Amino acid sequence: MPGAADDESLIETPDRQDREEKALAPYAMRVRLSRGRCYPEEPHPYRTLYHRDRDRIVHSTAFRRLMYKTQVLVNQTSDHHRTRLTHTLEVAQISRTIARQLGLNEDLTEAIALAHDLGHPPFGHAGETALAECMADHGGFEHNRHGLRLITELEYRYPNFPGLNLSWEVLEAQARHSKNPQAQDVGPYLSAGGPLLEAQVVDAADSLAYDTNDIDDAWGVGFIPPYPRALGLLWLLAFARVGGRHGRVGPPYFQPAVVRALIDWQVSDLLEQTAIRLRADAIGSIDDVRAAGRALVGPSPEVRALKAELEDFLHRRVYRHYSVMRMALKGNRFLHHLFEEFRKNPLQLPERYAHRAQETSPHRAVCDYLAGMTDRFAQDEYLRLFQPYALV
Ligand code: MG
Repeated sequence: MPGAADDESLIETPDRQDREEKALAPYAMRVRLSRGRCYPEEPHPYRTLYHRDRDRIVHSTAFRRLMYKTQVLVNQTSDHHRTRLTHTLEVAQISRTIARQLGLNEDLTEAIALAHDLGHPPFGHAGETALAECMADHGGFEHNRHGLRLITELEYRYPNFPGLNLSWEVLEAQARHSKNPQAQDVGPYLSAGGPLLEAQVVDAADSLAYDTNDIDDAWGVGFIPPYPRALGLLWLLAFARVGGRHGRVGPPYFQPAVVRALIDWQVSDLLEQTAIRLRADAIGSIDDVRAAGRALVGPSPEVRALKAELEDFLHRRVYRHYSVMRMALKGNRFLHHLFEEFRKNPLQLPERYAHRAQETSPHRAVCDYLAGMTDRFAQDEYLRLFQPYALV
C-alpha cells in the first residue's frame, strides 16, 4: 500500500506539533512521522490524523456490529457478560492507561485498540473456523485480514475513497496480526521493521483483558466454582491481594475485587517490565523501536508463566465447556449452511453483495456478507432461508 508523503492531513499547526513534542516520550509515534493516508485529505482544523482515525472507527458500521458478536459466551447466555464490543472498549481503556503512563501516543493507541477485533465473524472462533473451511480453496479466511479488508475496502461511508482511509500506522497494526505475512494484502505493511510501541501495547492489553474477563464471565454464569483452586497460582495470588487489602470480602464484592486486583497487578507489572526493557535496549526514538528486534512491551517472565497456567485452565474448563461447545458448533453449522446456500444461489444475496459476487468472486462476496453478520442476524438469516414459515 502506498504511503502518502504529501498527505495534507499531516500538515499540523506549529502549536499542535509543539504540544505533541512536549507530551510524548521520544520513542512515541508522532503525527509528523506518519506515512499518512492512502488517499490524501484536507487537514481538519482541530483533530489530528490519529484522532480522526479513532473517530472514524467508532462511527463505522463494523464497530456497531461488535455489540452482537460473540466474544466467548453467546449473546443469549446472559445480559452482562462481555461481547466483542465491550471487550474492545476494555482493551481500549487498558491500552490508553498504559500508553499514557509510558508517554506514548494515546490517540493512535486507542485507534488501534478500537479496530483490533473488527474483522471477527459471528460466533467467535467457531465462526472463523467455519469461514476458513468454506474458503479453503478460495483464498482462505482470517479475521485479522478481514478486519484490514473492512477498513480499507468494505466500509462505505465516504464518497471519495473506499473504506475508512485510516493512517498507515493503524493499518500496519491490523496487518501485523495476520498469520500469513506473505499475503498480498499484508506484506506491504511489514516493511517498516518491528511494530510500534503503540501497537505492542494493544496486543498486551488484549491478552491481559481476555484472560481476565473470560474467567470473570465464566465465573459469572456458573461454569466454574466460586473459589476455584484449579484456576492456578495467578488467581490464588489475586485472592490473597484482595484479602490483604479488604480482609474477608463477601460474594457480591469478592469477584469484582479479584478481577480488579488482577488487572491492576498485570498492568503494573507490564509498565515496570516495559520500562526496564526500554532502558536496557537504550530505546530513544522510533528508529530504535523499529530496529529493536524483540517485543518491548510485555509482562515479566513470572506473570507470563502464571498467565500460561490460567490460559490452560480456560482452554480446558471454559472454551471447551459443553455449553460453549454447543453454541460454537451450532454457529459453525449455521455458517456452513448459509455459505453453501448463498454460494449456490447468489441471487438471494442483498443487492450490494450480489453485485460484488458478479464483479469479484462469488465465494469472497458470500464470505464478506457472512463475516459482517452479527450472531443475531446470522440466526435470523438462517430462519429466513430454511424455516418454511419464516418471513423473508
Ligand atoms: Mg481482542
